Amino acid sequence: MQAITLTTRGAAGVALREIPRPAEVPGHVRVRMLAASVNRVDLYMRDSGAGITHRLPQVMGVDGAGEVISAPADSGLAPGTRVVLYPAVFCGLCRACLSGEQALCHHVRILGEHRDGTFAEEISVPVRAVLPVPPEADPVQAAVLGVAYLTAWRMVFGPGAAAGPGRTVLVQGAGGGVACAAVQLALIAGARVIAATTGAEKIAYFQSVGAETLDYRETDIAREVLAMTGGEGADLVVDSVGERSWPASLRAAARGGHVVTCGATTGGHPSAEIQRLFVRQLSVRGSTLGSVEEFRRLLRCWLDGRLLPRIDSCFPLAEVPRAFDRLDDPARLGKIAIRIA
Ligand SMILES: [Zn+2]
Repeated sequence: MQAITLTTRGAAGVALREIPRPAEVPGHVRVRMLAASVNRVDLYMRDSGAGITHRLPQVMGVDGAGEVISAPADSGLAPGTRVVLYPAVFCGLCRACLSGEQALCHHVRILGEHRDGTFAEEISVPVRAVLPVPPEADPVQAAVLGVAYLTAWRMVFGPGAAAGPGRTVLVQGAGGGVACAAVQLALIAGARVIAATTGAEKIAYFQSVGAETLDYRETDIAREVLAMTGGEGADLVVDSVGERSWPASLRAAARGGHVVTCGATTGGHPSAEIQRLFVRQLSVRGSTLGSVEEFRRLLRCWLDGRLLPRIDSCFPLAEVPRAFDRLDDPARLGKIAIRIA
């Protein structure tokens, strides 16, 4: 089968190659992949992969959707069933799994990180790592939900959930996949949403969906958020930018507010500003992915028509390297999808 594999570090190691189909494994479902999406972690795997136990060559790609080829008889998954992949394979037995926190599984193996991923014509995963969706569900939309939207879901609705009606949510670098998802989900939650972004098209988009906007190239974000909220600040700040936006995120947070991070594209070592944290009683939370139950609720929200994933662009499987380039394009707005079949 054809797959995008990583053989050596760097862009030169990424290519469409012919590899064997995955072997039959008891308890696993074989899925014909229809779509996937690119995520920033793909670039981390491409360029470093440090701290993540894995072996090259490896099939890249963390999220995706497809169609069941074959599954164990007792799984209820008939051939042809449309499924969305939960991005992590989990044991189901450890303390984290038993408390419903599958993304924190002690033996977690994230697709495209710890094991072969989704940029392939076929994948084999344990039955518990797929969720069925109706046959008419759009596979490209389904594919972009698994990482970015699930991560945003937990950032917005997870512990400390500070995004309901009457609350203000600031989303930094709102054009990115997770950030754009967070804007959409916080609006669904009924919050007042301030999207910090730049560029006329992105500003027009966020205003059209009901968010207020600030251009971070022209504005002191923290000062402006405080002015817009009568000096109170944002109840929830969603930050996937990292070092560049972090000082403003802390200054823009309301007393007792929450700052949630899921990424550090611009660096991971800003000042902790410990005095500000305790004096203003801020909560700082790290977040990545979400539980299977959160994924189920996200899919329900999408299938009910309450959420339309924002898709920036869609590339064929062979053009994953171009899709990676698009991740860093300042004009990019939302998710970059990969059409496989
Ligand atoms: Zn586990």
